Formats: sequence, C-alpha cells, structure tokens
Amino acid sequence: DVRPDEDLLAGLNPQQREAVTYRGQALLIVAGAGSGKTSVLTRRIASLLRNREAWPSQILAITFTNKAAGEMRERVEQLVGDTARGMWISTFHSACVRILRREAEQFGFTKAFTIYDSGDSRALIKRLVKEHEADAYGLTPAATQGKISKLKNELADAESYARSANMSDPAERVFVELFAAYQRELQRANAFDFDDLIAQTVFLFRAFPQVADVYRRRFRHVLVDEYQDTNHAQYSLIHELTRPIGSDAAPLAGAGGMMIFEPDPADDPDKAGASLTVVGDSDQSIYAFRGADIRNISEFERDFPGAKVVLLEQNYRSTQNILSAANAVISHNFDRKDKRLWTDVGEGERIIGFTGYSQHDEAQFVADEIEVLRKAGVDYSQMAVFYRTNSQSRALEEIFIRSAVPYKIMGGTKFYERAEIKDALAYLVAVANPADEMAMRRIINRPRRGIGDVTIETIARYAVDQQITFRDALANSSALGVGPKIQAAIAHLDAVLAEASALMLPPSGELAPPTAVAEGLQLLLSKSGYYDALRASKDAQDEARIENLDELVAVAREFARNNPEGTILDFLTEVALVSDADDLEDASGSVSLMTLHTAKGLEYDAVFVTGVEEDLIPHRISANEPGGPQEERRLFYVGITRARKRLYLSLAMTRAQFGEVTVAMPSRFLQEIPNELLHWRQSPGDVNSRGGTQSRALNARRQSGSGFGGSGSGGSGSRYGDDLVPLPRRAPGGSIDRFANKIPAKVRDNGDLELGPGDRIRHDDFGEGKVDAVTGEGAKRVAHVRFDTAGPKKLLIKIAPIEKL
Ligand code: ATP
Ligand code: MG
Repeated sequence: DVRPDEDLLAGLNPQQREAVTYRGQALLIVAGAGSGKTSVLTRRIASLLRNREAWPSQILAITFTNKAAGEMRERVEQLVGDTARGMWISTFHSACVRILRREAEQFGFTKAFTIYDSGDSRALIKRLVKEHEADAYGLTPAATQGKISKLKNELADAESYARSANMSDPAERVFVELFAAYQRELQRANAFDFDDLIAQTVFLFRAFPQVADVYRRRFRHVLVDEYQDTNHAQYSLIHELTRPIGSDAAPLAGAGGMMIFEPDPADDPDKAGASLTVVGDSDQSIYAFRGADIRNISEFERDFPGAKVVLLEQNYRSTQNILSAANAVISHNFDRKDKRLWTDVGEGERIIGFTGYSQHDEAQFVADEIEVLRKAGVDYSQMAVFYRTNSQSRALEEIFIRSAVPYKIMGGTKFYERAEIKDALAYLVAVANPADEMAMRRIINRPRRGIGDVTIETIARYAVDQQITFRDALANSSALGVGPKIQAAIAHLDAVLAEASALMLPPSGELAPPTAVAEGLQLLLSKSGYYDALRASKDAQDEARIENLDELVAVAREFARNNPEGTILDFLTEVALVSDADDLEDASGSVSLMTLHTAKGLEYDAVFVTGVEEDLIPHRISANEPGGPQEERRLFYVGITRARKRLYLSLAMTRAQFGEVTVAMPSRFLQEIPNELLHWRQSPGDVNSRGGTQSRALNARRQSGSGFGGSGSGGSGSRYGDDLVPLPRRAPGGSIDRFANKIPAKVRDNGDLELGPGDRIRHDDFGEGKVDAVTGEGAKRVAHVRFDTAGPKKLLIKIAPIEKL
C-alpha cells in the first residue's frame, strides 16, 4: 500500500519523516539551524492535505514574516496544487488582523479600525506625555512607549498593572494614567497598535468564549515556525486557539506567568483542541528585547503533557567548516542543551576573515569579493551582506554604487516611513476610518491650507464635547467661529474626502471596483492640492516625493491585480503589516543587504557578516542587559548559519559611528572560532602594523590619554589611554587569545598634526597629494586631499597613515 503522501517523504531522514507523519495532539520539533525545520513544517501541511486529514481551511500556520508566509504557501501549493487555497498561512499580526476585522464590533471597535505602527503610537504618546506633563517624572515618549509595549506583550492592561504597581510612587501613578489615556485614545480613534493586535485578540477570546470556539472549530491544525521568538501574548494566543472547544474556564496562571491548561475532562473527541506543531531553535532566539521568551520552548513539554518531541541534527544547508564554526561559537553560551550540527556535504572552503583599515576599506573588500564570486558563477541573488545596525549599510552602499554592484536593502528602504507616503496613507485612513483623529490632524493642513493649531484644537475640543468624530466636527466648522477663508478650505477638504469615500466605499454595500483604491488615492492627491503643491515647489526633493507617490499608486494597482476583491481596508492592512524582512520589490539579480535580525530563516550561497567588532556584535547596548551578550552570540550564530558554501567575516579597525570615530576591536566571537577554520586575508595585526610602523615621529608625538576612541566604546570596558590596545574581553570559557600576537602594538594616532590648505602629504596607500581644505574639529578633523594619482579623498587626520611633507 502506498501512502498518498509517500512522495512527500522522499529524501527525508528518519527524524524528519517522523515529524511529518506523527499524528498526535502536540508536537515539538527542536533543531539547530538549517536542519529542515521549516521544510518539515511545509511538508507536514502538504501531507495533511494530501491524505485528506484536513481541509485547507482547517490549517493555520504562523510564520515570522509575510515573506516567509508567502514562500510557505507557494511551497505547499507546489506540493499539493491549488487546493491549498483557504489555508491561513500568515504572521501572528496578519492572522490577528483578520480575526479582529471580523470580530471588532464585539467590543466597541468597527472593522474599519486603523493599525498604528510604532511611529503613529509614538506620536500619540508624545501628545499625551505633554498633556500629562509626564516628562517631569522621567516618562519620555520613548520610555513610555517601551514600557506600554512590554506590558502589552505580557498581556497586562492599565488596570491590572495598577493593581500590582507601587501606586504611592507618583511616577507610577502618572504612568498608569498615561497608559489608560493612551488606550482610551486608541479606542476613540478606532485604532489598534501593533501589540494590541495580539493582546486584544487574546482578550477577545477570553471574554467571549463562544467567539473563540468559532476559531477553535475552524482551525484543527495549528503550526508555528520560529517558536523560540514568541512572546507571552503570542504564546497565549496559540494556547487559546488550541484549547478544547467549549472550554471557557479561565486558564490557571502557572510559574513564571505561563498558563497551564487542564486536559479536557470530558475527553470528548468532538471537542478536542486542535493539534499543535511548533518548531524552533533556542539557539536562534533573538527577540528577547521584544519580550520573546525561550521558556516557551523549554516548557512546552510541561504545558502539553504527552507532547512528542523530535530532534533534528543533520544540517542540509552549510558546509562542515561553517557548521563547526557555528557550533564552536554557540557552545560558549551556558544554559543551553548541547546539540551538534553535522552535515555530509564535506568540509568546504575555509571561512575568510578580513580586517579593513576603515569601514570603506572593509566595504571595498566585500564589493571586490562579490565580483570575484560573480565571475566564478555565483549569482548576485545568492549573495548576502549582513550587519548589526542599519547605519552600517551606508558605507556599503556608497562603495557598491561606485563599484557597480547591484544590491537591494531588505527592510531598510523605509518607504512607508517617508513623510509623503504617510500623508497619502493618512488620506486613505481618513476615508476608511473617519474616527481616526490622528490621520485627520495629519492631513488637515497638508498641503498648506492656512489651518493652524488653534483651529485644529478648537475642532478637536468640539469633537470631544459633542462626542462626535473629528471628521464630523469638521463638517460643523461654521458653528465654531472660524474665519470664512479657513471655513472654505475645510469645506473643500471635506468635499474631497466625501468624493473619495463614495468611490472607495460605495454606500449601497456593493463591492467597489478593484481599481477603486488606486483611483481614490489619485483623486485624493490631485483634488486636495497635494500634487500641485509638490509640483509648484522649487525643492529638488519634491520631485522625488512625486515619484514616491506614483510608486504608491502603482503598489495600489498591483494590489488590485492580486486581490480583485480587496477593499481599501485590505490595502491598508497589507501596507501596515509590511515588516522588516518583507519587500515589495523583488531582489533577484542583486545582492541582498540586511541586518542580522532580518536574516533569520533565510539562506544564501555566500554570506558576508560585516562589522564583526566589539560594541557592534556584541552591541554596546547589550553589555548592560542581563543575558545581552548571550543573545548577541545567538544573533551572530543566526548570521553565520545562513551561509551555504562561503562565509566571510569582516571588520574595520576604525569606524565612524555614534557620531564619532572609534578604534574598533575584533569581536570576542572571532576568538571563539577555531584557528584552523578561519583564513585571514588580512588580520587585525596586518592592518595595524601598516599604520603603526611608519612615521614613528608622529606616533611619538601622540598625546597619551587623549581619550581618542575610548568615549565611543562605553560598556565594553575598552580604554585607549595606554599604548597597548586592549584585547577583547575573554568570553566566558574562552580559550586562547588568538589575537595576542596579531593585535597591534600601537594604534595610529597623529595627534593634532597641523595641516592646512596647500600642504603636501604622503599617504601609505594613495601616495602624494595636496590638501585642499580641512574641516571639522579635534579628533574629527578631516583633510580633503587631491592625490596626484589616486584622486580626491577625505581623510581623518588623526588616524590616517599620512605624513606631512
Ligand atoms: P533555520 O533554522 O535557519 O530556520 P531550518 O531548520 O528551518 O533552518 P530549512 O530552511 O527548512 O531549515 O532547511 C535548510 C535547507 O536544507 C533548505 O535548503 C532545505 O531545502 C534543505 N533540506 C532540508 N531537509 C532536507 C533533506 N532531507 N534533504 C535535502 N535537503 C534538505
Ligand atoms: Mg526555518
């Protein structure tokens, strides 16, 4: 007898096979990077469908990004054909939006609610902080936002928090007030912030068990990828969804705030909870700062007694050298179950290390190496460059443009954060959700209509007094005593919004034509005078703004093609949930640039991890966080395990960041990689002997204790007052100091070398040249030099390998 899903199992190892075919209530797949976790999840879904054990509509799969969701859907469709339609494969946030759009009326919202991204909620919180004069209590908008977000991830609301807080502390009282006011404002605006999407869905299920049952009946198989990065709210959502049907008893709070669920006493198979499959790797947990809790994995067996656990250890992605490096690095984390990844694809190339003199030097190495790989037949789309912080991409971009390397920044484009895009979307929101005061405030004087703050506050107050929306208050502006010119401007805006509403939200309840969103958007931008204002402007930037708006209209058209029945709400949802890793553009034919966080789950033939320096990875902010350095090590582990065949680790000896130029130290993680796996093209020592050997006279002149470099390295304990550059701190359990003989005896420091226009200098690499100008001050003085052969360059006088002639 051949199983209908037999072909799906072909090529799987026995453990993977078991993970695909096991049929029980709860299954936990724990495994290292690249061991096939995501593949197994995909095949498991396909197998359920192929064997007719589930309808597509009974499947809910949760992935970490929309991109991952799209890929998983595609893979399942490849395996089982079109029948896969109707499955929910989405992120936590998208799934919750879908649920909330259907159910929002149950608790005082409408399905037209707006989704506030973190910029929107920051703006609202800023206003409230000001109104409550909360700054005086140390409650800055950023701190308040962070604290509220953290509480929501733990499913605390203002009232429950107030019960446990120390309310005799005035700052706590003010915070509780702020939190409550913030929630009131969200409700009044018919809006949810990102954290609410999840938390409110959980609250909804708990308050209305019959609503929860609808979804429990529907989703019989719940599968979650990257389970190690779920926070408490997400964890609770999963558990609400998989509880037995008809179980409305409040969950018991167990240790550590975790929920414990009693098995269904009736044991009625018709009421059994959905089957739950989660896959994860605690070594790749990198979102603790957003409340992710590794315990969700380690306590799975306790939460689901009788859960099946499958371990996968064979890696199908990387060469043995890459895996050995990954294993070696991650083994420095204590508190983890030791697992060793292995592969049978062979050792592969050694990992290549490179130390640049500056970040541009480092970027040039990356660009050159990319071209070498390209000539050797590696496609650009199979190469990726990772960094710890977004700001590191700038030097890479500069060099890539100059070297004509096609690249695409994943998640860094921030298209939706541009002011003109936010304006355009606010126009759409004003149409879709007239209760959203913030959107109205945003557009009321954009383009300029002569409506000032006083008028806006008058309208806002009127809206509150009359308990009507801001938009309705606008329509009554004649009653507010504003001047005739302003009244005319307001009336015009109101009419434009009304016209767009009629187009995008037909009153008869019929479906708007698919092109309605794109057309409505264009109508809003033209008739409001927005386009005209940009066209009339002399600012060159404004031309680019028009192009961006055209791009948004194109996105709306594309959306209509893909979703013929998509409404303005669907469009706004999609736009609001574009996450870091999701990109509208297709990255084929270009090298992908992204942060290490964004790299999770992806794989490339060749990977460059750049900026492998102390204070970057591990990042300086992690030094003071409990568990911070360990989380950074996991992040580094995620980075290096993305590589299939080639891995490059690079750093720069000097780096301009945090507003100053610092001397960078090789990351402690480099020391954790065994010598024989790493081949240095240019080691940290090579670079410094270049800078350090020549021009002794200048070095001798350097002032000791000038503080150069030290100030930017807070937290790492590095000081550069001595002649010796300190070695990176040893990692816990770290072995030999491999850099002991490679690290520079001296750091290049030209002290306050006097230099002015007209002076001639000699540079180690660029030869002789003439100084055109000197700008900046102190350690940041920059010489603009025209070299005789190398052309114009900008050099940091303090540390450049130069001599005055
Ligand atoms: P990560 O931890 O990075 O998310 P993962 O465990 O989800 O990784 P996958 O992305 O599913 O791993 O798989 C890694 C690679 O190995 C993919 O290219 C996948 O196609 C391949 N792969 C998985 N299992 C097998 C197998 N049995 N035979 C051949 N290739 C496999
Ligand atoms: Mg995966």
